[in-house]
Amino acid sequence: MAFYNPRFMELIALPAFEDNYLWLLHDGTQALVVDPGAAPPVADALRRLGLRLAAILVTHHHGDHTGGVAALREATGARVFGPARERIPEPFTPLTGGDRALALGIAFRVIDVPGHTAGHIAYFADDVDGAPLLFCGDTLFSGGCGRLFEGTPAQMLASLDALAALPASTRVCCAHEYTLSNLRFARVVEPANAALAGHERQCQGLRAQGLPTLPSSVGLERAINPFLRSREAAVAQAARVRAPAANDDVAVFAALRQWKNEFK
Ligand code: ZN
Ligand code: FE
Repeated sequence: MAFYNPRFMELIALPAFEDNYLWLLHDGTQALVVDPGAAPPVADALRRLGLRLAAILVTHHHGDHTGGVAALREATGARVFGPARERIPEPFTPLTGGDRALALGIAFRVIDVPGHTAGHIAYFADDVDGAPLLFCGDTLFSGGCGRLFEGTPAQMLASLDALAALPASTRVCCAHEYTLSNLRFARVVEPANAALAGHERQCQGLRAQGLPTLPSSVGLERAINPFLRSREAAVAQAARVRAPAANDDVAVFAALRQWKNEFK
């Protein structure tokens, strides 16, 4: 039996910059934060809620995910976990796929998800208050995926396949509020997808109230996200209209990603 029962964890999306979310998970006493691109929103939340920062989980090296790491570590003594293959503010515990990161009594499993960056990692816990939880940085967004800055389409497709294989009930904590613009693209790719249309209406309602559209879930993303659906006949056909030579899964995925890059 576990001596520490990770129960009644609260999950909060702290907005930062234009459209980042700094995910804060806490048990009323201790907290962890994911990808703190800026320190002040996190420090404010810790003060307001009376929390001690125990851990910082970093998914990849971009500044909007790491800019607040050094200041928060200095102010709180929090332990920093990050991708072994990337440069993030030292010192940190370097992680690669299959490693575990223990924070707030939760053992997060590390998944390698190269594509957006070469060493990008995600953090998965199979039971936090009865449901799995995923912090996926800039790899998977609701209705979309990260841009391929350092990785290949084959790598990103494999990374998204690994995330899509997680339990349907997994809460998906993405690092950006890109949902509505992603769904606008997804609707063009797959106009007959009823689940997608319904989800778009729901997210429009949330955004109109200034609320996050996240966390999403793996089950929902499998139903609506074209980048998890590139092997579906309708999605592959739409991509091939743009790239007739795309004749395997990776080429179709690459065509879809390219289409999104050019989509206005
Ligand atoms: Zn990024
Ligand atoms: Fe980012």
